[in-house]
Amino acid sequence: MPDGDLLAPSSLEPAGGTRSAADPKAVLQRVFGYSEFRPGQWPVIEAALAGEPVLAIMPTGGGKSLCYQLPALVRDDLSVVVSPLIALMRDQVANLTAAGVPAGTINSGNSPEENRRVFAALHNGELRVLYISPERLLTDDMLGRLRNLKPGRIAIDEAHCVSQWGHDFRPDYLRLSTLAEHLPDVPRMALTATADAATQRDIVDKLFSGQKAKVFISGFDRPNIRLSIQPKASVKSQVRAFVQRHKGAAGIVYCRSRKRVDDAAKALQADGIPALAYHAGMPSHERDAIQDRFIGEDGLVMCATIAFGMGVDKPDIRFVCHHDLPGSIESYYQEIGRAGRDGDPAEALLLFGTDDIKLRRDLIESSGKSPEQKRIEHMRLNQLLSLVETGDCRRQGLLAYFGESRHEPCGNCDRCLNPVAREDGTIAAQKFLSAMVRTGQRFGAEHLIAILRGEMTERIGKLRHDRLPTYGVGKEHSKAEWRSIARQLMAADVVRSDLEGHGGLIPGEHARAVLKGERKVELVRDPKVATTSKLRREAAASTDEPVLSDANQVIYERLRKLRAQMASKRGVPPYVIFSNRTLREMATAMPRTADEMGALYGVGARKCKEFGPAFLTALHEA
Ligand code: ADP
Ligand code: ZN
Repeated sequence: MPDGDLLAPSSLEPAGGTRSAADPKAVLQRVFGYSEFRPGQWPVIEAALAGEPVLAIMPTGGGKSLCYQLPALVRDDLSVVVSPLIALMRDQVANLTAAGVPAGTINSGNSPEENRRVFAALHNGELRVLYISPERLLTDDMLGRLRNLKPGRIAIDEAHCVSQWGHDFRPDYLRLSTLAEHLPDVPRMALTATADAATQRDIVDKLFSGQKAKVFISGFDRPNIRLSIQPKASVKSQVRAFVQRHKGAAGIVYCRSRKRVDDAAKALQADGIPALAYHAGMPSHERDAIQDRFIGEDGLVMCATIAFGMGVDKPDIRFVCHHDLPGSIESYYQEIGRAGRDGDPAEALLLFGTDDIKLRRDLIESSGKSPEQKRIEHMRLNQLLSLVETGDCRRQGLLAYFGESRHEPCGNCDRCLNPVAREDGTIAAQKFLSAMVRTGQRFGAEHLIAILRGEMTERIGKLRHDRLPTYGVGKEHSKAEWRSIARQLMAADVVRSDLEGHGGLIPGEHARAVLKGERKVELVRDPKVATTSKLRREAAASTDEPVLSDANQVIYERLRKLRAQMASKRGVPPYVIFSNRTLREMATAMPRTADEMGALYGVGARKCKEFGPAFLTALHEA
């Protein structure tokens, strides 16, 4: 079918003439309790219903799962879903089961009993969604079964794992390219949150073997995540203030080393915050237990290295704090993307210091990679530093990095909310460049700053750099200010690191024009970090969730307690019962009947029947 010539919802034909097709929007409301599709969902679902090959790229939290779940409900058939992680599969099955959708998973962690149950449901035609690992799907046994069962579609989740370009290549995923031979009549869908152009081509190539797949890109923006980036001053109080501002909410604090993870967790605990620690040095059973606690309980703060997060599908993470500078914009974006999947407001704070930058550079240098690879890694780091130093909207910078440059200033980042003072930095830039040129373009920022500030270091003495005309001409700026200036000059490509030589600074593309006075340099004055008392005041004003009146807040807390009890009785995470937003709506709308309850966000027919009465009683008592 040519592009654009898609079936309208009203023209849906029953597949094969035997199975019935329901109205997708009615199913969305009845089963999931949602009244609208999220942006980007409907076109993907429409193409899937038409049996077309689909590649869907949607940001985390965009609602990818629904794109393969809903078609099976509309068509009353089966979606087979390939997923890389057992934890993810279990989570999804728990969610679907709570919504009354027959779902199961076949994976190596299943008991024989569980397998029997799933296979029985599968062969009786009861199952609507089957989650399976790639290696299990590709066994002769499973392929044989599916040839007979004729599923409506196979969805390949986390599809970027097929690509060697991606950051998460899995050989088992690559073998999925044989699906076209094995099950030629089953339409395939591929879904992912992270795929640049090269990865996209690769996915289409591998999974659709030359077939013309429809590609839907929903964009990278996560408008509900507020972005802030601050230089480190007193890291401990910065982290504490940030976490306290989100008191009672679940969040992640990413630290660069195991020791920092432990220290951060202890510091937060000392403040009475329920913090956990997670890093690769812990035995795996302990790690799993901690991860399960974080997902299953309400309001825990996870201090972790980047070993944590892959496959954590918790929708109500309210904040992500980077205690240290991440490795690249990609990893920053992926890590903050774990916040706010439910679409409610969330916040990401990145803290950075000069030691971070130096450490990252050293890591690249000592990585044993080829000079070409090292150059690319330095460049990536520089791109992250530009984002860190920019005086402009953070989101614009972030999205531009991913090739989306059409956005307006976002109004939801620190730069938009607290515009920074800018000043003409042309003279400072000229002084810096002149110190660099006169010393032969061999030295790093620290040495040049020492010269500009007229300091007497051993090196300056030995090299007689105190005799240079630029010696001591930059005393008007503090060391910290000069460091910020140097980073900004780097971000603006006025100076660069010499990656072929010894890593000293060399002129960037705009150096000449700046030196000759043909180009002005605008600098952001290093923003003063808020004082501890100001941070405390901020901490008092929580901005997380829409504010409820005092009375409603009391009811909301009560509903949360009830939810926690029901969840632990059933052995599922609280959000599987109802989301925070649903509880908030209950606390404000105060439904009295099952019908009123069923109209609320996220209350589908099954949940209304199963959980509704307990909540109605609690509301009545309140
Ligand atoms: P991802 O794209 O990251 O896999 P999910 O499929 O896990 O996202 O969906 C994220 C959250 O959004 C889930 O809690 C899901 O129930 C919710 N969601 C999905 N579609 C809708 C919708 N149309 N309206 C409201 N919430 C939705
Ligand atoms: Zn902004």
